[in-house]
Amino acid sequence: MDNADHLTVSDVISQTEQFDAIVLGAGISGLVSASVLLRDGLRRVLIVDEYDHIGGNHIDWSCGGYTFDIGSLIFQDDSPLLAHFPELLPLYIPIEPRWARLNPQGMITTYPISVRDDIFGAGIAETIRIFASVIYARLFQRNMRNAREFARYWIGSRLLYRSGLESYMKRFYGIATDGIDIDLARKRMLWISEHASIRNLIGRALKRKQQGPTNRQMARPKQGFQFLYSAAAERLKRNGAEFQLAADMQAIDKIGGQFQLQLKDRIVTSDRIISTIPIHMAERLCRRDSGRKLETITLIGLYFSFAGDRGFSQSIIYNFSHQGAWKRLTMYSDFYGLVDGREYFTAEVIGNHVGGSTERAERDFRDHVHTNGLFRGDLRLEGSHVLDEAYPIYSKGAALHAAEAIRQLRDFGLESLGRQGGFNYQPTARASTVEAEAALRISVGS
Ligand SMILES: Cc1cc2nc3c(=O)[nH]c(=O)nc-3n(C[C@H](O)[C@H](O)[C@H](O)COP(=O)(O)OP(=O)(O)OC[C@H]3O[C@@H](n4cnc5c(N)ncnc54)[C@H](O)[C@@H]3O)c2cc1C
Repeated sequence: MDNADHLTVSDVISQTEQFDAIVLGAGISGLVSASVLLRDGLRRVLIVDEYDHIGGNHIDWSCGGYTFDIGSLIFQDDSPLLAHFPELLPLYIPIEPRWARLNPQGMITTYPISVRDDIFGAGIAETIRIFASVIYARLFQRNMRNAREFARYWIGSRLLYRSGLESYMKRFYGIATDGIDIDLARKRMLWISEHASIRNLIGRALKRKQQGPTNRQMARPKQGFQFLYSAAAERLKRNGAEFQLAADMQAIDKIGGQFQLQLKDRIVTSDRIISTIPIHMAERLCRRDSGRKLETITLIGLYFSFAGDRGFSQSIIYNFSHQGAWKRLTMYSDFYGLVDGREYFTAEVIGNHVGGSTERAERDFRDHVHTNGLFRGDLRLEGSHVLDEAYPIYSKGAALHAAEAIRQLRDFGLESLGRQGGFNYQPTARASTVEAEAALRISVGS
């Protein structure tokens, strides 16, 4: 600090509002953090967000009867989030989604890999080459330095290419697979080693047919995420939380061991600040800018309605083909019903691959689905959403830089966690809940 050197600690405290804790960000990590703190006995917690809504990047958009999410957002009835907010459960809509993928051969087939289509469908000669390349990789390509080498070791370079997994990984991670940190690849691509290890393959072959998932899949209510999360907000408010949304956060200073958060229209103080906002934003607020912004994916959500033959029956399709900047599409009309006879869906496009342009994203999507014989009929763009900071890009050195930035914030006293604050790709609200609980070193119910 200190821009308030001339004030004594008691002056500052008497002029400001005091909270037991301040939580930056009202996404899943922020809501769970507030819930944990209140359960832990704190009486007054302020939740501040620059967004004008609760739920962070759980964002929907409705127009003319259609209702879209920015991406594929699916929940489960056994999520630990429901231990914090049990009132959410009856508001969700039970769904029975099926997942598939578009492979490089233009087929809609099993996600994430199809032994029949990707291996045996390649013909005898190519099947032999695929198996030979797996054996070669297991024997001679054991040295793994990046995500590409990790995947190659497990499924061999021929299947990596033929299945389209490498193209999908590039789309998903936002950079070429040989630029992705090996440690992060191990963590995030565990499913490859689990599916491809010989022990597991034999184990699965000997076991009786695997049971399907025992939990129930759910979508948010048609009324949207605000309707859903206002139920959670009400519980938090009853327990002592206050929300300040659409907040203009200007600075965080430390005065006599107390944090002082300066908002445009008010100053609040607390002993404790939990930050779930992007690291560079927290650094800026604390005037501790490291000068290096961690790279993140910008996601463009294209909101389409459609009448005609879509060319597949599953609700969620992943793009594993070698072309196209879109990563995944979700048919919301399968969950909420048709509107005037029209289906509707969101296509998630990696913004970094189309120069951040919605027009290019739309053109690229239309060309690609046309080439692959999908969506034959009347395809109409109803709207779009550009989401910066959707999730981290794990380029080499990024994890180290994030850890260092988080450590510096912690030295200042700020606890930074969550998808943004922890620079951690948390695929689900479940992961965000578990990790927020762990970060605050509290186990629910204890
Ligand atoms: C496309 C997509 C699909 C997902 N699919 C699923 C799913 O199927 N199931 C599931 O359970 N979860 C899904 N998730 C989300 C998952 O639940 C995350 O783990 C969770 O949303 C992370 O919450 P968070 O509070 O840590 O961070 P976030 O919600 O990412 O953000 C926290 C806070 O950071 C700030 N912030 C974030 N982005 C910006 C920005 N661009 N500009 C300014 N401030 C910003 C805001 O204050 C925000 O409230 C999905 C998320 C996305 C983006």
